[in-house]
Amino acid sequence: MSRLLIIGAGGVANVAIHKCCQNSDVFTEICIASRTKSKCDAIAESLKGKTKTAITTAAIDAMDVPAVVRLIKDYKPDALLNLALPYQDLALMDACLEAGIDYIDTANYEPEDTDDPKWREIYEKRCKEKGFSAYFDYSWQWDYEEKFKKAGLTGLLGTGFDPGVTSVFAAYAKKHYFDSIDTIDILDCNGGSNGYAFATNFNPEVNLREVSAPGSYMEDGKWIEIPAMSIKREYNFAEVGPKDMYLLHHEEIEALGRNMPEVKRIRFFMTFGQSYLDHMRCLEDVGMLSTSPVMFEGREIVPIKFLKTLLPDPATLGPRTKGKTNIGCIFTGKKDGKKRSIYIYNVCDHEECYKEVGSQAVAYTTGVPAMIGAMMVVSGKWKKAGVFTTDEFDPDPYMEALNKWGLPWTVEENPVLVD
Ligand code: NDP
Repeated sequence: MSRLLIIGAGGVANVAIHKCCQNSDVFTEICIASRTKSKCDAIAESLKGKTKTAITTAAIDAMDVPAVVRLIKDYKPDALLNLALPYQDLALMDACLEAGIDYIDTANYEPEDTDDPKWREIYEKRCKEKGFSAYFDYSWQWDYEEKFKKAGLTGLLGTGFDPGVTSVFAAYAKKHYFDSIDTIDILDCNGGSNGYAFATNFNPEVNLREVSAPGSYMEDGKWIEIPAMSIKREYNFAEVGPKDMYLLHHEEIEALGRNMPEVKRIRFFMTFGQSYLDHMRCLEDVGMLSTSPVMFEGREIVPIKFLKTLLPDPATLGPRTKGKTNIGCIFTGKKDGKKRSIYIYNVCDHEECYKEVGSQAVAYTTGVPAMIGAMMVVSGKWKKAGVFTTDEFDPDPYMEALNKWGLPWTVEENPVLVD
């Protein structure tokens, strides 16, 4: 029996809310609060008569800490699940600390305004010290460790699929399959097609920032950065077939690199079709991916925000998307003195997801683990004071919940490795 405050009403939130409502023994009451209240109301309306969970809705600007604190004190939830954007992470963590409740999210902090000189100074220092230049990193949220510890609160960071499930797979492999892990390759394959020449599967601004940035991976505890999309491999994915994939920087590399320092190499690959890459390169070449404001007919616009208004809303891709995703991790290492390699992965079908919750598989594979992460925290299974990523808890109850709530996984011994 618990009460959850969910911030955001986009594609991922829609799935997480449907899943909380299927799991009404745990989530007896939820409040959906977002910038545009009509979107919260629409999700609540779509669930009317289909769940025992009591749903309320509210308008909130997540950046307004006092307003979020008021909402928390008013609604009295056990935890806050942040399914807005990474820009809001720190404001929502501040609000949770002030109001005294646990915090859960799916993506690590990045600033909305990357030209902010105060942020830039810290960012440039970090680029030099750590050796990777992505706008997002865990340092901002890891800095809350002491405050959460002192307050006796749990901050669960990044409980989507990747990051999220991928790090639970790593903890599970370490617990049950290996004495020591040497390498981790995280593979994110979307074999689906939505019929558009160019569309992103989740928030376009966040997605395009991520994939147009330089790639990087960790080797022997050090970051190695490479030009965007410059390492390409082909992999034959179960139930999807052969796909081109590219090495990207990704946030779980940072957390796994810190928490499993014995792992010698950690890489992340994502599949992209040629049409997506051609469009992205062209948009980047003409400056449409820039986050810096430009003057247009007497007013300031941010190119990537303008582009977002032109692109299909990811929340509308559900009925058009066909095919499957396959996301998982290949681990190599040793068990009982012998070499071992395994691949743990999930396959998810876009059309099945749409039938069940009205969203495609990318939102589904993020929203289900968001609900599971919230369930782990509110049920007390994953409850400790401080700020943690998903690899820092017992993976077993989470793995069990994945099978139960729509993301069953497979363990394959001796998979084809990525060179
Ligand atoms: P959407 O853009 O579809 O939804 C974001 C929601 O947040 C919208 O409802 C938006 O409101 C709301 N919002 C934005 N700013 C504010 C604010 N200041 N105050 C209140 N509400 C606000 O995003 P997605 O659903 O695609 O993604 C949600 C999160 O999931 C993102 O952080 C994304 O990075 C993360 N993600 C994580 C993945 C993983 O595997 N770990 C994979 C995919 C996504 P409005 O409707 O008014 O715009």
